[in-house]
Amino acid sequence: MTFAKLGLIEPLLRALERLDYNTPTPVQAQAIPAVLAGRDLMAAAQTGTGKTAGFALPLLQRLTLEGAKVASNSVRALVLVPTRELAEQVHANIRDYAEHLPLSTYAVYGGVSINPQMMKLRKGIDLLVATPGRLLDLFRQNAVKFNQLQALVLDEADRMLDLGFAEELRAVYAALPARRQTLLFSATFSDEIRQLAAQTLNDPLSIEVSPRNVTASTVKQWIVPVDKKRKPELFSHLMRKQRWKQVLVFAKTRNGVDQLVERLRGQGVNADGIHGDKPQATRQRALDSFKAREIQILVATDVAARGLDIDDLPLVVNFDLPIVAEDYIHRIGRTGRKGNSGEAISLVCADEVQLLSAIETLTRKTLPRHEEPDFTPDHKVPMTDANGQVLKKPKKPKKPKENSSKRSLGRWLDSAETPAAAPQAKPVRKVPTFNTGPRKRKP
Ligand code: AMP
Repeated sequence: MTFAKLGLIEPLLRALERLDYNTPTPVQAQAIPAVLAGRDLMAAAQTGTGKTAGFALPLLQRLTLEGAKVASNSVRALVLVPTRELAEQVHANIRDYAEHLPLSTYAVYGGVSINPQMMKLRKGIDLLVATPGRLLDLFRQNAVKFNQLQALVLDEADRMLDLGFAEELRAVYAALPARRQTLLFSATFSDEIRQLAAQTLNDPLSIEVSPRNVTASTVKQWIVPVDKKRKPELFSHLMRKQRWKQVLVFAKTRNGVDQLVERLRGQGVNADGIHGDKPQATRQRALDSFKAREIQILVATDVAARGLDIDDLPLVVNFDLPIVAEDYIHRIGRTGRKGNSGEAISLVCADEVQLLSAIETLTRKTLPRHEEPDFTPDHKVPMTDANGQVLKKPKKPKKPKENSSKRSLGRWLDSAETPAAAPQAKPVRKVPTFNTGPRKRKP
């Protein structure tokens, strides 16, 4: 199979040749002809499958060959993504693909000044990549109009709902023309996503390119049981012992990220952190330096779990397990990409046994345990299995404080606070309906 056989025009083929894309990936082989033919799409595809080109190439082609010239402040195709980093990354790819096309493309997201974005939108943009919150701000200030819109892409739709963007999505839909092509990409398909699909797609073609909810077989995964307070020490010990080179580390809270980075820097390690409290420019700089291998260890909250395309990352460490089991798949999906081998190590304490059990149930895999000789935990991590069994009950979590019930789970997913009690498995997935999910946090 070649891109030419899929019906792509010469300027796109030329761009692909320069990028060294020789053969379409499975998602591209299925999506490109369908999108060119104008069909809606519902695709189960993770980052790393080539999904960006899967939707962008045919949309760019349609924008080139069909429709009127873009009017002032108008947008002809809109790609919604959950995070700022992803907006940058998707737009960078699209710019490469559109190199030889007479189209304008741009990305808008929060955390940076809105004025330059308003200026840029004045001329109209053929294809706009946006995070939902900033897009809505721009729309409400009349900086962007949708009357010319012919295509909408929801990229990482499940993540957008997890981040509490349901309200923004609803508001964006209300402003879009009913007649349009809609493409929905999601790594996982919860009931909420299916409901979203039912509300937005018209006779969609369903594509599933990788088995659902499984981790890449090229990633060697294991856990190291440890007492919570000894995690930093164990981390430094393993880093020295196993001579870690480039590592992406996930911690639960912003505070946790900062503390680990500070500790590592104190030990002379070249480390940096990204989380939602940092200005966007700082986040992007840290990520770029990590990609350029100028930083050895990048510590992040789940803001970095999805979508980021980091080539040949050998190791992901879960300093804390994720609250939402699906995020485990996304976190470790940063390694073992494109068939390379990778490793994913999780430091697990007794408090996290329910989270571990939820991950093992989701991935249908019992994670092997390797105890580190000097770090055998006093508080044993109960044995678990892939059927969701915790074979010995963990200690009962403390009762939450009075007012903690008011706190939304999403807030402390990426916040300086820690929950008063160990959460139950997969709590955030309970966004009640697509229409009512509250905004939980900014990406
Ligand atoms: P994505 O899943 O869209 O984030 O793409 C993952 C990575 O695969 C990106 O670095 C793309 O540049 C690359 N890629 C996408 N499609 C192809 C292809 N057909 N051949 C080679 N590389 C590709």
